[in-house]
Amino acid sequence: MIYLDNAATTKMFEEGVDIYKKYACYSFFNPSAGYNQSLEISNELQKTREALLKKLGAKTGNIIFTSCATESNNFAIMGSKRNGKWEYVFSIGEHPSVYRTAKELEMQGYVVHFVNLNENGEIDYEHLKTLLNEKTRLVSVMHVSNETGAINDLKRINEIRMQYAPKALLHVDGVQAFCKLKYNIDDYKIDLYTVSAHKFHGPKGVGALYVRNIQSIKSLLFGGEQEFGLRAGTENVGGIKAMEYAFNHIDVESNFQKVSKLYNIFANNFEKNERIHILKTNNPYIMSVEFEGINGETLMRILQDNEILVGMGSACSTKKMGNRILENMGYSKEQVKAHIRISLDASLTEDECEFASKEIVRLYNDLWERIK
Ligand code: PLP
Repeated sequence: MIYLDNAATTKMFEEGVDIYKKYACYSFFNPSAGYNQSLEISNELQKTREALLKKLGAKTGNIIFTSCATESNNFAIMGSKRNGKWEYVFSIGEHPSVYRTAKELEMQGYVVHFVNLNENGEIDYEHLKTLLNEKTRLVSVMHVSNETGAINDLKRINEIRMQYAPKALLHVDGVQAFCKLKYNIDDYKIDLYTVSAHKFHGPKGVGALYVRNIQSIKSLLFGGEQEFGLRAGTENVGGIKAMEYAFNHIDVESNFQKVSKLYNIFANNFEKNERIHILKTNNPYIMSVEFEGINGETLMRILQDNEILVGMGSACSTKKMGNRILENMGYSKEQVKAHIRISLDASLTEDECEFASKEIVRLYNDLWERIK
């Protein structure tokens, strides 16, 4: 089987499973208890916080451990809510964990704006300018689109935020960027940044939210004083330590080079066929591809029968959500339906990619012949 849906989830590093077992069966103490064993666990969590800050490129700020990126995104948005006439700005291309939270804010009566996308999948920076003002409380824009792979220009977004909405917090969903692109969040003065362990070979059910200033956000859960009083509930210690193992063992630059080569293999084989259109971005990890004239879901199933797994955009949403993003970029309903998403990982070999890309073209041509 060739797995080409790494934006949906990744295979966990086996060493991470051993680490999880250590904290589940031997060093299993509650980090909030009073004895020395617990203090050691609490110190272990602190080490992970420091390591994650470093990997993110943040000299100051805090890490709040959560159960997933969905929770981190909900926390960033709902936790930063303030009474009064504040406004909230989101990109229309966000993952449902942000988009639906934005819709909930709207239902609660807050003023919510959505920034359009350009035809390349990035946000429309000029449109963003028109939506910001001194009442803007939060700007939330994803770093990399899980749907198209488009990379938003955080430098530019921060500059716009500073000029047009200096009081606003900047939240970035970094799920598809962390451990894949090289950057320092400090360079963009990001206030809140979301990551999810299962997207970079860590366990499922572990996420984190970087919070520059803990005064800027309120807890959504009522309970214990864990995580600086911002996220009640005993931490998933084994999962957090397994996540640390994962991000410590990813060489972002060498993986990027390797994945770029793999991307080129797909691009070369696809570009020979004039009915296959790749949505071009600067990100080799995610490739959104239109196979003219067919239904992407049908192709996905045929590929599955041939032991090749690809995605249909956001794995945790319906086709409806995919339409929101590609349609906003100007694609027709027919074109949207014809898309599949191929998302790569450095563990794939060049031979696998050569084989899979040729198979995809062959099976697409078969399908085209049958339906035309
Ligand atoms: N944000 C983005 C950009 C994603 O791609 C995903 C998962 O697909 C999420 C958030 C949600 O992640 P989790 O599964 O950790 O809740």
